[in-house]
Amino acid sequence: MTKLDETHDPAARSWVASARVEGCDFPLQNLPFAVFRRAGSAEAFRGGVAIGDRILDIGRAHAAGHFSGEAAVAAAHAAQPELNGLMALGARYWRALRRALFRLLREDAPARAALAGCLVEQAAAEYRVPARIGDYTDMYASIHHATNIGRLFRPDNPLTPNFQWLPIGYHGRVSSIGVSGQAFPRPRGQSMPPGASAPVFGECRRLDYELEVGIWIGTGNRQGEPIALDDVESHVFGLCLLNDWSARDIQAWEYQPLGPFLAKNFATTISPWIVTLDALAPFRSPWTRPADHPQPLPYLESDANREQGGFDLRLEALIETAGMRDRGEPPARLSQTTFAHSYWSVGQMIAHHTVGGCNLAPGDLLGSGTQSGPGEGEAGALIELSVGGARPVALPGGEERTFLADGDRVVFRGWCERPGAVRIGFGECSGTVLPAARA
Ligand code: MN
Repeated sequence: MTKLDETHDPAARSWVASARVEGCDFPLQNLPFAVFRRAGSAEAFRGGVAIGDRILDIGRAHAAGHFSGEAAVAAAHAAQPELNGLMALGARYWRALRRALFRLLREDAPARAALAGCLVEQAAAEYRVPARIGDYTDMYASIHHATNIGRLFRPDNPLTPNFQWLPIGYHGRVSSIGVSGQAFPRPRGQSMPPGASAPVFGECRRLDYELEVGIWIGTGNRQGEPIALDDVESHVFGLCLLNDWSARDIQAWEYQPLGPFLAKNFATTISPWIVTLDALAPFRSPWTRPADHPQPLPYLESDANREQGGFDLRLEALIETAGMRDRGEPPARLSQTTFAHSYWSVGQMIAHHTVGGCNLAPGDLLGSGTQSGPGEGEAGALIELSVGGARPVALPGGEERTFLADGDRVVFRGWCERPGAVRIGFGECSGTVLPAARA
């Protein structure tokens, strides 16, 4: 696991004023990466790092000679329109670049005047998916979500026996992954109405979101050479927020025996910023397993994983309906939880993913599975909050939802805070449901 160093010093401040604002997502201690350009321009997309409400254009800073050694090698890759090259370099280079960026953006940096010209306002930028994603796997790592949804889909057998023994996942679809701001038409498909003897075809009537954490693979592994649990962290570049939009009526009819297909392949939305594991180092949490549950098999078990395999990453889901937008109301919170509740850790997910010989590559993406906490108001999907549609969720202004309506915008936020550390945030992951495309 990452050791704390000068880049985690809670007393350090940036010369960028907005990075010093209390509660800001992107203080000097964060330094997440994205791929951006000025919105509506014909500029090339390129890599940048967030500082306050600005983006440092890494390519411009590199061209002006602000990096040297390993940091310069990493900066050249970080400036590209896809971050796969940076991801492939490995933790030593990521760390060298983080340290160099930290020194350049710190209050007393000699280069501050020269670097001011390399800043772009985030409000004036647009983003894209920050790497060429080769493969996408969506996991199912929250026992609270698995139990809640299992109860609705299989009342007699809510939690399948394998759940407590291995991190369940399915291979998802890359083509429909989009960056925050994504809008997509309501999907159509087959569903089996209760009591019917044949399925019907039509618009999804039970459209849902799933509050998840995205896990970006940095360095990969050779086919046939699994990544051991305690080596996983040097292979993970960072985390983002991820919305695994889900068509529950299509899912219920199609998912047995091979898992979701059309229920989840129409859209997935990720936040643009990748927060590195180095930035997350102060916010690690123990991974625990109740004593009366099955304990992990040896390849999924280690002291380091027990001690700090988790992330106390707070997660929040909000909704903004078309009506709320018309009335000028802010998005309303639906739920809040923490990734620390996850039944399986990131390390266990990746150790299991590769243990049979599967190779991961730089830029591969994993979803954590819906992260639901144990308590009321901690569920990461509407199907849980509305108990399968039986109990509508009340919204401000008198509206209510069992599932998503056309025009709804779902917003995720994520952040880490802990005494003795500077709070860091993930920015926003938002997406909007459009009416179904004409058949
Ligand atoms: Mn999911």
